[in-house]
Amino acid sequence: MIERSLVIIKPDGVERGLIGEIIKRFENAGMKILGMKMVWIDRKFAEKHYEAHKTKPFFKELVEFITEGPVVAFAVEGVHAVENVRRLVGDTSPHEAAPGTIRGDFAHISMDYASRKKSGGKNVIHASGSKKEADAEIKLWFKKDEIHSYTTVHEKHVF
Ligand code: ATP
Ligand code: MG
Repeated sequence: MIERSLVIIKPDGVERGLIGEIIKRFENAGMKILGMKMVWIDRKFAEKHYEAHKTKPFFKELVEFITEGPVVAFAVEGVHAVENVRRLVGDTSPHEAAPGTIRGDFAHISMDYASRKKSGGKNVIHASGSKKEADAEIKLWFKKDEIHSYTTVHEKHVF
């Protein structure tokens, strides 16, 4: 039941100064941060990360968006982490994301609007969509020795 998930604060979130605000939400929920880095990924890496979307009409714009500035990536661990992280993140389209979620609180555009504007959907954050995706993404973004093993105070009361 204890799972890992990969979170990425996208270039719009970094440029808007939302790094601390976003990390706080995962810490507040008692999730454990296993590793973290700021990185400006190149096109090749972005295409690998979003490989599942390569046939989508917005793929080119998505790759342009995710490479337009540095991102902050972190791996988190927790009970049902994949599902719980997605709940904190909210629906893909900020327009549908409930208030209280990261996308619902910090963005409001729709993917429809992004498509019409020919831009990658600026929705502040990425989170793994499944356990399989999480395992593959953590492996892609982090070397083994960048994922740390330590004990948090939460493990007594939250896990
Ligand atoms: P992410 O994988 O980034 O966490 P998600 O899993 O909620 O997002 P996906 O369906 O995997 O949603 O889409 C990946 C990303 O592609 C979205 O987060 C968004 O930035 C972008 N995107 C999705 N649909 C569109 C669209 N119609 N137009 C432009 N960009 C889009
Ligand atoms: Mg996804």
